[in-house]
Amino acid sequence: MNSSPLDSASTGAAADPLSQVRIVLVSTQHPGNIGSTARAMLTMGLTDLVLVNPDRFPHPQARANATHATDVLDRARVVKTLDEAVSDCGWVVALSARPRHLGDAPLQPWDSADKALGLARQGARVALVFGCERTGLTNDELDHCHATTLIPTNPDFSSLNLSQAVQVMCYELRRSTVQGQVTTAAKDGHPWYAPPSADDVERFYEHLQRLLLSTGFIDPSNPRHLMRRLRTFFNRAAPDRNELNILRGILTSFEKPKNRRVPL
Ligand code: SAH
Repeated sequence: MNSSPLDSASTGAAADPLSQVRIVLVSTQHPGNIGSTARAMLTMGLTDLVLVNPDRFPHPQARANATHATDVLDRARVVKTLDEAVSDCGWVVALSARPRHLGDAPLQPWDSADKALGLARQGARVALVFGCERTGLTNDELDHCHATTLIPTNPDFSSLNLSQAVQVMCYELRRSTVQGQVTTAAKDGHPWYAPPSADDVERFYEHLQRLLLSTGFIDPSNPRHLMRRLRTFFNRAAPDRNELNILRGILTSFEKPKNRRVPL
């Protein structure tokens, strides 16, 4: 059976959190941007597009720019108001190139993508709302969103093309899912990769300190916060159980060299 790219983009509504994320374009002026948006979405696995009062749609330029993502255009819903577009959504994020004077500081794209995916995994529908090319989102439209997101850009030339702003956000959403998968596939379940207990970590620091005192690297009369700095360093590295074992083994080998093959 032939399947369209749209079908292959998602693996089923429940299984694929990206299918819970909607892209909403408000009052888009250039049909080409709608087509490029469809392409930007499908390359990252999103398919739910809602258009609020587009100037011209459907349109041949939209189809041309969508290339193989025309299914996304065919399934796009056209509505009259932003409220209609997002009424079933649990979290609605406005994308705006301009920081607001009122309201909370805008979220970073990666933080809103992570939050959106987290909510989508719990079954909520999430909308990312993009404004029109000339004027962006109005204050009234911003008021109907729960948060704003600003894609960091050159402060002297901050406004991205509409479909490129969509691409950045869809990429962030995809990245967020892939990041989860990699962590899960590589690390889940294997006890080696579990974090060591606080007790084991403390024993490692005691061992390290003992050795550094014995070599004279730490002067007991003037330890100069060395252990605290080393703790900060190892906290940043966050060694797993296996890595901590290796470190303990290295310390032991310094204390009791077994088979010294190469003279120091
Ligand atoms: N001239 C408009 C910009 C319109 S660009 C203005 O000054 O607001 C069209 C849409 O793309 C914007 O409404 C916004 O949703 C999105 N966009 C463009 N650049 C962005 C950025 N740096 N951060 C967040 N969204 C951006």
